[in-house]
Amino acid sequence: MSLVHTVNGPVDTSALGPTLIHEHVLFQFDDSRRARSIDFAVDLLQDAYDHGVRTVVDLTPVRRIDWFMEIASRVDIAMVACTGYYLERLTPKPLAVLDEDQMVNRMVRELTEGIDTTGVRAGIIKVAANLPELTEWEQQVFRAGARAQKLTGACIATHACAGSRAQADLLLEAGADLEKTFFSHVEAEFGWEGRSLQEEAKYLESIARDGGSLLFNNFGFEFDTPWSDLTYLLHYLCDAGYQDKVLISIDCNWTWNAAGDIEFEAEAQHPETARRTFAYVMTDVVPALLSAGFTQEDVDAFLIANPRKFFERD
Ligand SMILES: [Zn+2]
Repeated sequence: MSLVHTVNGPVDTSALGPTLIHEHVLFQFDDSRRARSIDFAVDLLQDAYDHGVRTVVDLTPVRRIDWFMEIASRVDIAMVACTGYYLERLTPKPLAVLDEDQMVNRMVRELTEGIDTTGVRAGIIKVAANLPELTEWEQQVFRAGARAQKLTGACIATHACAGSRAQADLLLEAGADLEKTFFSHVEAEFGWEGRSLQEEAKYLESIARDGGSLLFNNFGFEFDTPWSDLTYLLHYLCDAGYQDKVLISIDCNWTWNAAGDIEFEAEAQHPETARRTFAYVMTDVVPALLSAGFTQEDVDAFLIANPRKFFERD
């Protein structure tokens, strides 16, 4: 038996059920829109629950945990919060300027004691880098994440539109456990550094071979990853025996636009992306995967068994 620390307290991993392991319950924390933001998040999460999603893992490392607590109290779905860092330019200065030891201490405290003055514990470590060549700051964040993982046993989620191999190498060097690490957005074609689809498949396979997992979320993002390429990569990994290294999620995120309306990521240029809510995984992604030749067993691995193993402690 292993426990996962959710916003509402610890639950057994066996209770996680279908899990979206890379999401954003809220992305923007504007006090003047607090109630409307929370209401909208509650509606999206409850809708996902009604469609069969049972757990959502939030990967927004700088967040208002009191807002999350209110949301969690109003939905049936389980919410897991994260600690760690997103990109440097989006990190508030007081957190960005910490040295490596201070970063480790912050992560460990949030994982083992609680976030801010609450007793709500983070359940996962987020780290992020933008390009295949990591900046000094990003390298420090990754080393801190690896050290926090060693101290706590928590899993690591990376933002890896590009350079997942470099990230894996850096984490390995810093002592991280790749079996407890996944690399997100690896299918984004702008991050392939000129590799062909077939070369990209082999590139990703090398990470799976080293124990790392790969998270795919560009469903309905044809402009970043055409469906045929996305399914090619997923089939390639499954055919190579790495069904247990594949994770799927939506990476749902939205903000208030200048007109005061809610706008989902990429919606301004691609209005169809407004459909990509948490529930979209059940309404659209799973049926499309089944039509593309994946089995129900594959889908259950991607959404239930594989996410669950990240939260199990040996
Ligand atoms: Zn994300």
